[in-house]
Amino acid sequence: MTVTASREQELLADVPTGLLIGDSWRASSSSATFAVIDPATGVELAQIADGTPEDGISALDAAVAAGDEWAATAPRVRGEILRRAFDLAVEHREDLALLMTMEMGKSLQEARGEVTYGAEFLRWFSEEAVRISGRYGANPEGTGTTIVSHRPVGPCLLITPWNFPLAMATRKIAPALAAGCTIVLKPAELTPLTSLYFVELLREAGVPDGVVNVVTTTDAKGFSSKVMADPRLRKVSFTGSTPVGQTLLKQAAENVLRTSMELGGNAPFLVFEDADVDAAVTGAMLAKFRNIGEACTAANRFFVHSAVAEEFGRKLTEKVRELRVGRGTEDGVAIGPLINAAAVDKSADLVGDALERGASVLTGGSAIDGPGTFFEPTVLTGITAGTRLLREEIFGPVAAIATFDTEDEAVALANDTEFGLVAYAFTTDLARGHRLMNRLKSGMLGLNTGVVSNASAPFGGVKSSGLGREGGSEGIHEYLDTMYTLIPAS
Ligand code: NAD
Repeated sequence: MTVTASREQELLADVPTGLLIGDSWRASSSSATFAVIDPATGVELAQIADGTPEDGISALDAAVAAGDEWAATAPRVRGEILRRAFDLAVEHREDLALLMTMEMGKSLQEARGEVTYGAEFLRWFSEEAVRISGRYGANPEGTGTTIVSHRPVGPCLLITPWNFPLAMATRKIAPALAAGCTIVLKPAELTPLTSLYFVELLREAGVPDGVVNVVTTTDAKGFSSKVMADPRLRKVSFTGSTPVGQTLLKQAAENVLRTSMELGGNAPFLVFEDADVDAAVTGAMLAKFRNIGEACTAANRFFVHSAVAEEFGRKLTEKVRELRVGRGTEDGVAIGPLINAAAVDKSADLVGDALERGASVLTGGSAIDGPGTFFEPTVLTGITAGTRLLREEIFGPVAAIATFDTEDEAVALANDTEFGLVAYAFTTDLARGHRLMNRLKSGMLGLNTGVVSNASAPFGGVKSSGLGREGGSEGIHEYLDTMYTLIPAS
């Protein structure tokens, strides 16, 4: 059922609009605010506090003050708070989903899926909080006992992007809290409402004052430079574009901060001659058109064996033509707006470049007139070497198909990128699947599937796609230091 305007207004009235510092919400120290816009309509949804770098230091003060007590809180207690937060996120699923649809544009159905996925990190890390184990053993010389233990790294700065407003936050907050760290969260300025609403749920779940602090700001650079220059901060965890990640890595060097970097992607999607083509098309719809193509895991380059390329392109085009475009709150909509006009221009430029270099359009190919920032779901074929979208993250609903003839060629094409977040491959040959696992240079592989994300698995990339892992048993160690103690044999 389509959501009513009054339901939207009631929900917006429940979203805090200030900065959460210590025990209370407050205005920015400059009193400034900024607008959050609905990309489907161009209408302003809310005005929220525009925090200053000094507000960042106040938030860090609060995180430092709460640090020792939170680190000393029993893991079971931390875990139970996270478990209550999971229950509350599930209970407030419709509100969280609607906020994401309103501020980011994805369909309500996909936004509900993100609540399920995002909440799962709270449950997963509620369980991991009580399983932080170490090692104990005699050293090889028999002269002493080695004890390896772990402890929280300390106050963390968490910076999140706009494309998954809830999940990118819970993927960091949950392991940080489970490990015993306190945090300053800086949500993306384009989509802060979901985080602001979610943080109130964390407080309701029992997170003590000062453990979670939130600063929204349009001065991301000034804010993070100031906070990262403060030696009390011990870690920065960032999800976003590679150029910003590189800047933060340089800044992190100054105080030798621990870092986790979840950066850009350029995922190859390989379809071999022995693939189940229908399964590959189903996988392609998920890998490419989920989240309007605005996902770091989005399939960016389709490489299809020439024997099945025509069939794959035809079947994919049939499915893409069925996608309904519109505001994500409307029934049956699969493709919402892109985040802003610049994103529409980028998709249009990349399609234009591909056409100039000889590609053809199977469906779509153009921006859609406003209001709102929409782009047609698009399939291009005949992509040639040198085309820009083989190198650049598209971040829009554009599938670009090129062909190959041998496995070696497919692997070389797939690996020909500075990125290495995720790869997808469709083949019914088990031996080939195993070979690809070893040959593809990426942090993750979807073998005969178009979605890999799962709270229980280590998410992350290699090369320019980043450092560190989120989720799985690895995720909590991003927020733990390793401590070694030697006790001489007596
Ligand atoms: P972005 O890098 O522009 O912004 C990400 C966050 O960084 C935002 O909160 C922004 O305010 C902040 N920021 C921007 N400039 C900054 C600076 N100089 N110093 C400190 N903070 C700064 O990225 P985006 O457009 O929000 O997100 C899209 C990008 O994120 C894509 O490249 C996508 O692949 C990537 N992403 C990666 C993952 C992953 O897990 N690897 C997940 C989601 C998105």
